[in-house]
Amino acid sequence: MKKKVSIVVPCYNEEDNIEEFYCRLSDTISKVKSDFDWELIFVDDGSRDNTLQKILDLYNKDKRIKIIEFSRNFGKEIALTAGLDYATGDVVIPIDADLQDPPEVILRLLEKCQEGFDIVNAKRATRTGDSLLKKFFAALFYKTINILSDIEIPSNVGDFRLISRDALEALKKLKERRRFMKGLFAWIGFKSTYITYNHEPRFKGKSHWNFMKLVNLALEGITSFSIKPLKIATYMGLLISSLSFIYVLYIIIKTLIYGNPVKGYPSLIVVILFLGGVQLISLGILGEYIGRIYEEVKQRPLYIVKNYYNDNRANQGKHYR
Ligand code: UDP
Ligand code: MG
Repeated sequence: MKKKVSIVVPCYNEEDNIEEFYCRLSDTISKVKSDFDWELIFVDDGSRDNTLQKILDLYNKDKRIKIIEFSRNFGKEIALTAGLDYATGDVVIPIDADLQDPPEVILRLLEKCQEGFDIVNAKRATRTGDSLLKKFFAALFYKTINILSDIEIPSNVGDFRLISRDALEALKKLKERRRFMKGLFAWIGFKSTYITYNHEPRFKGKSHWNFMKLVNLALEGITSFSIKPLKIATYMGLLISSLSFIYVLYIIIKTLIYGNPVKGYPSLIVVILFLGGVQLISLGILGEYIGRIYEEVKQRPLYIVKNYYNDNRANQGKHYR
C-alpha cells in the first residue's frame, strides 16, 4: 500500500505567496508522486486579504487540497495544531507558506524517514532569511530554554519537519491551550534525526513576528517547559533574606557600639528599591504562571473552524463534528 503524506500549511495574509508556494510544492510532489499519496491541508488563520480566495482557486483545481478556515486569527501555533488534528496521512509535514522553508527539502525529509525515523527535523544551517539581531536573540533563547527546561529543544529547528503517525498521535494527546510547538515536538520523544537546509528569505510580504511577539513566544516556551523561574524566585528570596539577616546583625552591633547618628539615606533607598524590584519580578513570574493556569482551566476549544473544505466536494463548507 502507498504511504500517504499530509502537508500542513498555516497561512495568514499570504496572498502573494500562495500561488508560487503551490507551484513549487506540486513540482516537488510530481517528482515522487507515484510513491506516495498526497494531502495538502491549508489552514487559513483568519487572513484579512485574499489568501482564502487564492487557496479556494487551487482547491477547485486540485483534488488533494483541503482547507480549514478559521473564524478569526488564532496564531500560527494553533493553526498548525488544527492542521495536524485534521491530517490523515501516515507522515505529516508542517511547512510555512512564505517559501522560507523550501518545498524541495520535503524530498530529503521523506528519504530520511524511509530509514526508519519517527521525526525528521529540518535544521536551519543558515538563516539567510533573518537579520543579525534576530539570529542573536534566537541563539540566546535556545541557550536559556535549554538551561531552564529538562527536555532538550533542538536549536535552529522551526516547525518544518516530518512526523510519523505514531509521533503525531502522541502529540495530539498534549491538549494544552498555550502551545509552544517546538517544545511539544521535543517533549514526545521518539526516534528522531535531522537534515540541514538553507532557511531562505521570505518570497513576498513581511514576517508576522515583531520583537514583542517573539519575546512573548520565548516566555511561552520557557513557562510551558520549565517551572525553574518559580524556583529562581524562591532562591532569590532566600539569598536576599540571608544577606539581610547578616546586615541586620551588622547594624545592631554597629548601633550598640557607635550609637545611631541617623545617616544612611543612600543605603536605605538602595535596599528599598532593590527589594521592591525583586518582589515585583517574583510577582510577575507568579503572575505568568497563574495566568496560564487560568487559561487552561477555562477549557475553551483551541480554535473555531468556520468552514472545512475536504475531498468530499459535495459536502464542502459548514461542518459540525
Ligand atoms: N502564520 C499563521 N498565523 C499567524 C502568523 C503566521 O498561520 O498568526 C503563518 C504564516 O502565514 C506563515 C507561517 O505561519 O506561513 C510563518 O509565519 P512568518 O513567516 O510570519 O514567521 P517567521 O517565518 O518570520 O518566523
Ligand atoms: Mg516566515
